[in-house]
Amino acid sequence: MNLHEKCGVFGFRASEKRFTAQRDAAGICYTGLFALQHRGQESAGIMVTDGLHVDIEKGAGLMVDAFRARLPSLNGNCAIGHVRYSTFGGSSFANIQPMMAAIRGGGFIGLAHNGSLTNTDTLRRSLESRGCLFQSTSDSEMMLNMMAVSTATTVDGKILSGLESVEGAYSLVLTVGTGLLPDHGSVSLVGARDPHGFRPLCLGGLSDGSYVLASESCALDAVGAAFIRDVEPGEAVIIDDAGIRSLRLRHRPVKRAFCVFEYIYFARPDSVIDGLNVWQSRHRMGRRLAAEFDELKVQADVVVPVPDTGIAAALGFSTESGIPYAEGLIKNRYVGRTFILPEQAARKSTVEMKLNPLRENLKGKRVVMIDDSIVRGTTSARIVGLLRAAGASEVHMCVSSPPITHPCYYGIDTSIRKELIASYMSENDVRQEIGADTLHYLTLPGLLESVGDPEGQRMCVSCFNGYYPTDVSEVSEPKRSLF
Ligand code: SF4
Repeated sequence: MNLHEKCGVFGFRASEKRFTAQRDAAGICYTGLFALQHRGQESAGIMVTDGLHVDIEKGAGLMVDAFRARLPSLNGNCAIGHVRYSTFGGSSFANIQPMMAAIRGGGFIGLAHNGSLTNTDTLRRSLESRGCLFQSTSDSEMMLNMMAVSTATTVDGKILSGLESVEGAYSLVLTVGTGLLPDHGSVSLVGARDPHGFRPLCLGGLSDGSYVLASESCALDAVGAAFIRDVEPGEAVIIDDAGIRSLRLRHRPVKRAFCVFEYIYFARPDSVIDGLNVWQSRHRMGRRLAAEFDELKVQADVVVPVPDTGIAAALGFSTESGIPYAEGLIKNRYVGRTFILPEQAARKSTVEMKLNPLRENLKGKRVVMIDDSIVRGTTSARIVGLLRAAGASEVHMCVSSPPITHPCYYGIDTSIRKELIASYMSENDVRQEIGADTLHYLTLPGLLESVGDPEGQRMCVSCFNGYYPTDVSEVSEPKRSLF
């Protein structure tokens, strides 16, 4: 069945000084992953190593559940971790990361991956011809094996040769134990980002000389690390006993294509990605949405966000339009994001569990409701229904992204076109389906201006316009199943 993920990755390598004083790599990794919990809530894993020995602990559920039994107890100086979510068919224990493979000549590679690959058939054939067997149904394992079977004799060589035939979206943290290789017993922490740079990955440092890699800068803040820089698209950063160095992945020149949805919805608002704070970008989307909405000449009394991702955009909308901001939906913070739960049935049943209307702020009001996106439409319809049942006299739905008309093949659960309501319904039909009085989407130019890329030179917007920056013929419908 289909396998698509949205994940968070974290890596830590202790300096000699820290390792002597505090053997806390697993704890640091746990704290970093905890800050990335919004990127995946179905499973989590941590791998700790000293270059010779490895300890991995994995489990289902949130961080607190996955590690209820124990954290890895090895006193290693390097740890990598992963939080994950998947759609149906991908939730088995074998697919939980980090994954590990023995490497030719001794040693091992551990891998945590955020993204999805787009040439899985090619990779699979190549690996099978070399006698590889697969333990999981994950594309991440293919990438891991490409590095593990490389005939290169250095860490740098294995990374470069292993990734040169991989296509699609990957932000990786790796740990490489050199085992029986010449530099026996040393351990490297590696961060690598695909040439398009679809998913985020940043580098941070602690004052004691230790280094951190994380999907988002909020995880650096959580462990007290200072932000150094983003890992560049097409770059591998290697941290070992010799310090830190940068390699360029071997690939043909390609256009940058950072996932604009990281700004719209996925990333935490306190993260800074490629120099742009996520909250500020959402606030700008809201301001731009209000400017575009103004042309509709619709009158309203309050601007109400769908919490949490709609809040910054609603504040921006209110600032620009002068319509007062009001909380109208109170979120139960102990229910996961509806978008992140794997099956449609779960999605339907959790909306009412998650959101309760604040009637006092809604009764008799003409409401502008701000949400980040409409995917299947079921959630929007239920929320509009909640507002009306609470007494809203009108509901004008404003969406801080354009209509999602095409699937994503780069790691997001929008990979089946018929599940995207805007791909088969007109805007007016979508409005009727969700029960709103009016419906207004942010335009694509408005979105791109809000994220500081007015010419569309750096962002992936494929799910809005259907132009994919990579060949997706191996993974597009109906040929999407890996196994
Ligand atoms: S297709 Fe959409 S969700 Fe996927 S990477 Fe591109 S912008 Fe992000």
